[in-house]
Amino acid sequence: MNQAVPSSPCLELENVSISYFSNVAVRGVHMQIPRHQVTAFIGPSGCGKSTVLRALNRMNDLIDGCSLQGRVIFDGHDMYSSAVDPVEVRRRIGMVFQKPNPFPKSIYENIAFGARINGYSGDMDELVERSLRKAALWDETKDKLAESGYALSGGQQQRLCIARTIAVEPEVILMDEPCSALDPISTLKIEEMIHELKNSYTIVIVTHNMQQAVRVSDMTGFFNVNSFEDTDAKVGCLEEFADTETIFNAPRQQATQDYVSGRFG
Ligand code: ADP
Repeated sequence: MNQAVPSSPCLELENVSISYFSNVAVRGVHMQIPRHQVTAFIGPSGCGKSTVLRALNRMNDLIDGCSLQGRVIFDGHDMYSSAVDPVEVRRRIGMVFQKPNPFPKSIYENIAFGARINGYSGDMDELVERSLRKAALWDETKDKLAESGYALSGGQQQRLCIARTIAVEPEVILMDEPCSALDPISTLKIEEMIHELKNSYTIVIVTHNMQQAVRVSDMTGFFNVNSFEDTDAKVGCLEEFADTETIFNAPRQQATQDYVSGRFG
């Protein structure tokens, strides 16, 4: 935790607001997400954590009525400029969801399928092994690669989904509450894996579990709902963003202090 932040951020949000049709879900988010670190988003339900996460790889483009204002900069370029192909963005910035969602295919094909679609022409056996190893799943699956992904436990399925994401060689992995459907032991395995993965990838994770944020993340963004003068509706916002130690031990905002100490609401 609390490593020095490299000078050039991997992802940058500049005054980002996101709406679903005319309802503003989250407003005025500024944030610099450091490279090769783990950034956690915490905060009460409905304050826009998943919405902002999905903005980081243009996944919100697929949601009817969802629109974004402001800029999201990835590696120095505006990710939402018309010259950018959203499919390529999603290859470079992969996503793992709350519920494990393997393809109805063999363990091997779960990995090979996306890589093949993305034009991978190297040694597929080697890629499958490498991806499963990185997701800490190789030892448990090496003798049953032809079996269905559905035959695995929930925790293994989630690691398979992470292996599948890794196989297309992304630079960033977004995780939306990846452990919320898992038991404590499977959760621990994923958390250990996240520690390993940050050597190779930038990771952003939404978690409702504050202890998990403390265990896995270097930086934490606390999202909250706020009232604004120009609207009656409560709107999500980024209340505070800092290194995880500061957020949990010495936050600047009273609302952050109340939330992390359990006095929220
Ligand atoms: P969190 O992840 O913090 O729980 P969300 O990003 O899921 O918050 O939601 C933020 C707000 O946006 C909520 O008011 C929610 O109802 C709304 N919202 C989220 N997804 C959609 C959607 N697909 N269509 C319409 N409104 C949505």
